[in-house]
Order: sequence, then C-alpha cells, then structure tokens
Amino acid sequence: MATKKPIHQLTAAQFDKAFPDEEACCAYLVGKKWPKGVRCPRCGAENPTELKRNPWHWQCYQCAPQSSYRFSHITGTIFENTNKPLRAWFKVIHLMLTSKKGMSALQIYRYMGFGSYKTAWYMAHRVRAALAAQKFEKLGGIVEVDETFVGGLAKNRHWDKRGGGGGTGGVGSGKTPIVGAVSRKGNAVCRVIENVRASTLTGFVNEVVSHKVSLLCTDQWTGYRRLAKDYPLGVIDHARGEYVIGAVHTNTIEGFWSIFKRGVVGTFHKVSRKYMPLYVAEFQFRYNNRENPDIFGAAIGHC
Ligand SMILES: [Zn+2]
Repeated sequence: MATKKPIHQLTAAQFDKAFPDEEACCAYLVGKKWPKGVRCPRCGAENPTELKRNPWHWQCYQCAPQSSYRFSHITGTIFENTNKPLRAWFKVIHLMLTSKKGMSALQIYRYMGFGSYKTAWYMAHRVRAALAAQKFEKLGGIVEVDETFVGGLAKNRHWDKRGGGGGTGGVGSGKTPIVGAVSRKGNAVCRVIENVRASTLTGFVNEVVSHKVSLLCTDQWTGYRRLAKDYPLGVIDHARGEYVIGAVHTNTIEGFWSIFKRGVVGTFHKVSRKYMPLYVAEFQFRYNNRENPDIFGAAIGHC
C-alpha cells in the first residue's frame, strides 16, 4: 500500500507554537493568500490602502475610485461570514488533516467545545468543499483504475460488487458508486458517479488519465474493455482469482478504498450520496499530500 509513510502533521505543541493567538493566524493566512503582497481580491490591484484603525482590512481605489472597495484577510475565503475566530478554524483543519480516517463533526464538536454540533458540522463541510476545489494534472506513469460502492447495508464483496442490472451497480442497494484512478507513487483522483457503465467509466478515465501512461491497470469488468483502444491496458481477472501479474494489479487503488471505507464506516458511520463527494475530496486530499511536509499550509491555501 502506498500510504505507509505517516502523514506529516503538526503536533499539538507545534500547532500552539505556530498559532499562539488570532494575530498569528491572520498573519499566516495573509502570507498564504498573498505571498507577494496584498492584492485587491476584486480587481487584483497591488498595494491597497491599509486601514490603520481596522487591522487586516484594506481598501482599494482602483476598482472603486469614489467609495473604495473594502476587504479583509478573509474576504473570499471559507472563513468569511462566520463568527468563529480563525484560530478555531485552523484547529478544526488541523484535526481533520491529522486523523487518517477523518474526524466526525461530533468528535470535532466535543473536542473544540463548540456550543452546537451544527457549527462543527458546517465548518467541516466548508473545509471539505475547499479541498474539493483542488485541480490536478492528468495522471501518468502506471495508473490503476477501479470503482467501488460505499454505504448501504449489503456486503460489498469485490467479486460481486457490480451486482445485477447491467452496470447500474449499487442502484437500489443504497450504495454510492465511486470511481477512482491512482498513479502509483502519485496522486489519486476519485469521483462519485451515477453508474458503472462503460461510458461513465471511460469518460472519467479519458478526463483524468494521460494517454501517455506506461500502463493502465483495471480488473476484468467489461466497462473498462474499450479503454484498450486508447491506453496500454493491463487487466487483472479477480473472478479467476488473479491478483498480481507482473506490474498488473489494482492494489494501490484498493488500498485507497479500504482507508476510505474504514473512514466512512468507522468514523462517519453513514454518509448520504449528497455529501459523499465532500468526504471523497477529504480523503483524496490527505492521500495526495501524504508526503507533503506542509499539508496544513496546502490546505489553508485552498480555503
Ligand atoms: Zn480593487
């Protein structure tokens, strides 16, 4: 499994040292948002006027010469329009990033001592939505593609995961189908899908996987067969008890599914289809930054 290396994370002590107070959090966010100096978020003008009496606020006369446009360090971020201090947000993000299987809103609510569960739920979802906006280059090298079904009650044994119904998969079972592609030693890209038909799966692969890969590994599902036209396709037949033939296997993506499912089952218990893309984004982000020494900074950069 490609996730053996521990996720780099700030310890609680390191977090407290880096962010002793709200000021430190504001300065950190400004540094992440505007590494080359503050710019107007609306028109991009450099050197907006600092409001001396109102720290972390600026006004831009470029896009509003008469009245000036006022903005702050949190304008346009997920931290806007909330009454929680930045330090609470940072702590929540830190908690979410440091737990391999994710942290439920209930856990966050209790740990943070928020007044309501709803606050924790809302904050965690906003963070996930920010992480979901991450963009990727097409995957290259050796890439594995696989789909899975998450949620629902029925057992999810690999060899009968597609069930009946000609590729409609989990429809009726309460399960949500998800397709994923992972570059060995690289990134994973996963997406919640409507069904596991050939058109859906090949559409996803064409969108996220480079045609210049050295090998594309799938299992024997007929939905993948037409990929052989555009990709060097290696098929492993699980139905025949095959799991590894030379470089052909799907163990990396299956490792990702197993972490994701343990998270969904063990931490979040039940995730509806509506919110599944947000959880997928969270796990994908942690996976793709598993060797990033500044995973926290990367996350803040997306907020
Ligand atoms: Zn402006």
